[in-house]
Amino acid sequence: MAYKDKVKNFNSDLLSISRKLIDNKIYRQNKKTQKIMMEKWLEKASEIENVDIPNLILEDEDDAGHYSQLTQTISLPKTSLVTLFHEFRHHVLCERQLPSTEKEARSWSVSLFYKISPSLYYQAVKKGILYFK
Ligand SMILES: [Zn+2]
Repeated sequence: MAYKDKVKNFNSDLLSISRKLIDNKIYRQNKKTQKIMMEKWLEKASEIENVDIPNLILEDEDDAGHYSQLTQTISLPKTSLVTLFHEFRHHVLCERQLPSTEKEARSWSVSLFYKISPSLYYQAVKKGILYFK
């Protein structure tokens, strides 16, 4: 089964705050605004999931996203909603002391991205920028 179909029942508030990022055209904003928008999403998503709010570092020197459980910090090399969702899922699983596996993080993030915007999902697949489909 494709990652996009793995998770079906998302919290409706989570879907609406996530869709808002796309409605507000996050990809067309400058870096500073993008970071603020992602931080606001993290605040609300953490409230919905009932976990601590993780820190966010943008423009990490690494070329992939990363989550540090020790500092509760999500690092993103650039603005990417799939990567934001992916690292946030690692955070939630760590907070709940559940196994924080790649499979679980990929399933949740790709399914959520597909759910909020099938068209952006297919665009990303076509461009070859979505590593896990
Ligand atoms: Zn991961």
